[in-house]
Amino acid sequence: MATAPHKIALVGIGKIARDQHVPSIGGNPDFELAATVSRHGSVEGVEAFPDLGTMLAKRPDIGAVALCMPPQARFSYAVEALAAGRHVLLEKPPGATLSEVHELERLAAQHGCTLFATWHSRFAVAVPAAKAWLAGKRIDRLAIIWKEDVRRWHPGQEWIWEPGGLGVFDPGINALSILTAIYPHPLHLASADLSFPENRGTPIAASLRFAGPQGAEVTAEFDWRQEGPQTWDIEVDADTGHMKLSAGGASLVIDGEKVEQLPGREYARIYRRFAELIRTGRSDVDLSPMVHVADAFTLGRRIVVEPFEF
Ligand code: NAP
Repeated sequence: MATAPHKIALVGIGKIARDQHVPSIGGNPDFELAATVSRHGSVEGVEAFPDLGTMLAKRPDIGAVALCMPPQARFSYAVEALAAGRHVLLEKPPGATLSEVHELERLAAQHGCTLFATWHSRFAVAVPAAKAWLAGKRIDRLAIIWKEDVRRWHPGQEWIWEPGGLGVFDPGINALSILTAIYPHPLHLASADLSFPENRGTPIAASLRFAGPQGAEVTAEFDWRQEGPQTWDIEVDADTGHMKLSAGGASLVIDGEKVEQLPGREYARIYRRFAELIRTGRSDVDLSPMVHVADAFTLGRRIVVEPFEF
């Protein structure tokens, strides 16, 4: 017998909620978009609440929430939802600090709820094949090049320049979420250079170097000043060949040959995974991408560069 879909509320109706969450929930028979919570926005045909507390009190039938606001504000919303016994999906990064998310894990377990800290880039179609190819290999070099135009992708978003907004690590953490999913050996940050515009609280560019037990050269270059073609690539030289994962994990070339992938959308897969986690009573919280970012802010050498204005 078919089970009724989970009623879910979207909280924070901004760019990612509209671009990805609304269509992905609409395309998944396991979920029904039953409410929005937003200070400004709404979705046509869906009951809208101005604040989370009112929604939780008036709609006990809504068992899950997806939190789509910037990371600095996410913790208090997640605490409120978990305390009310609702399953919680967190946009990336899952919080402003690591300890916040540890506390959310504890609360989810205490209240018997699913907590899903999503990393959408891990759901890109070519990531599993890249992971399978790397498994068991000796890796000589891995280079991440993640360069995009902040004015094109984050027009007018002030929160990315505020502490906790991560600056160029907002896209960079997507690359690190792939790295930590596919790299077959332990890695830790060895050094970092962070370029902060003199008028901003977060970096516009970062160069990272990692160390691991095998002595591979593992580096990441993040830059938000890239005009023209945009680059979201990870290249690997291994003992048995060369791999290039590009387009943010959507395309894979091994030894010069494109590896065809079945079609699929990141957020459609995220919601399938959320349904599976709820059904099996589990949580999925992997903080390893955020650990590297926290290490970069701890260890990184700060370089002041020219001011940034939108
Ligand atoms: P956004 O459009 O700037 O903001 C999303 C919404 O969050 C806003 O519309 C606002 O909703 C709410 N919000 C903002 N500040 C808030 C605050 N202080 N307290 C409570 N709510 C607040 O951002 P976005 O691009 O959608 O990104 C949101 C999250 O998704 C980020 O963590 C980002 O890394 C992640 N993400 C974004 C993208 C992308 O392409 N943009 C892709 C993947 C992941 P209301 O006004 O409706 O309350």
